[in-house]
Amino acid sequence: MASFPVHLRSWQEPLRAQFPIITEHPSLAYLDSAATSQKPRAVLDAAQRYLTESNANAGRGTYPWANATTAMVERVRGRVKAFLGDPAPERSRVDFTSGTSEGLRAVALDWLPGLLADGDEIVVPFGDHQANALPWLEAREVLARRGVRITVREMPYQEGSRDYDTAELARQVTARTRFVAATHVHHVYGGDMNVHRVRQAVGPDAVICLDAAQSVGHVPIDLAALDVDFVVFSGHKALALPGTGAVWSRGLRGPAFEPGGWAGTPNTVGIASLEAALDWLEEAGVGRIEEWTVGLAARLTDGLSRLRPYEVLGCGLSLAADSRVQRRRAVVTLRHERIDAADLGFILYSHGFMVRSDGHCQASAGETRSSVRVSLHVYNTPEEIDRLLAVLGTL
Ligand code: PLP
Repeated sequence: MASFPVHLRSWQEPLRAQFPIITEHPSLAYLDSAATSQKPRAVLDAAQRYLTESNANAGRGTYPWANATTAMVERVRGRVKAFLGDPAPERSRVDFTSGTSEGLRAVALDWLPGLLADGDEIVVPFGDHQANALPWLEAREVLARRGVRITVREMPYQEGSRDYDTAELARQVTARTRFVAATHVHHVYGGDMNVHRVRQAVGPDAVICLDAAQSVGHVPIDLAALDVDFVVFSGHKALALPGTGAVWSRGLRGPAFEPGGWAGTPNTVGIASLEAALDWLEEAGVGRIEEWTVGLAARLTDGLSRLRPYEVLGCGLSLAADSRVQRRRAVVTLRHERIDAADLGFILYSHGFMVRSDGHCQASAGETRSSVRVSLHVYNTPEEIDRLLAVLGTL
């Protein structure tokens, strides 16, 4: 059995206490953080403070509240860069979105057509979230209408672990492979997708756009080490308010990213909440959040391995954080051999567990049958996992 990081208990307890929705519902366990996270008091306070002290539009007025809002929005761009470990923040840019879907779509429709010429190829991960598949197909249609034909290659996956098969990818890439869409942490299998190997496979010139929806706030991000060109994430999955997200772009390979059209009023309260969320995460320590949630996921996979009717999707092993092979993060997805996933979701809620049970918006090379996803964050506890295992064990 994987050892649980008990030394982090005294660190985690006061952090959990900062989530009002968690402490006010002691009989419920929120196990759906991959869909959206809960918010700590500091984030709620930052939103309230912004709305009661300086709410105005950004980049327009010249009175103090408007100036304060404009300055805040610019400051949070820098905050996002620092949080991602951007080694050259003076060259990169951050654009705010409502979430990862909007961010990836902006890269696909506002930027990708400017990169590609007739005969170029792109690689798309059809086993990942559809937010990281559909926009690239839309871009292909846009280009085709202009008479530019591109080839879409499917990202190859390994059987079992569902990690990317980067040896196969390296065999498939050609001099025309200009762009690769990849995911940092998989939203169904929970695997760290080893993106550094994608860079090795495709060489130094291809653009890599990273869907970091499940890694920001869960895994320390080190842009200097990742060597990717775009990082797209959802602030609302990283403790900020709903309707928040961002695109970080480096602008080194291909044209500069400039989201098209008139964007209108930004989600200023969301952006203010994102600053508070990133501050909170950094103070709590993303490395410790990672250790804690990986420990919880390992406790769950270990427990499930002793319960015969359950299948765990993706990497079945609870591997240590320093492992060089596929590592599971804060997501564990399972099936019962007889109980349908939707029914299992209802049964679990009758015991107070909020899980996700469906196909999890996986794209076309995803699972063909639905499943139950348990996804974790800093506020979850080993007691919740043990209670969940106890209930699962009776079914
Ligand atoms: N990509 C991944 C890996 C996700 O898990 C999700 C959300 O579930 C998304 C993209 C879409 O995020 P959003 O709903 O914030 O646009």
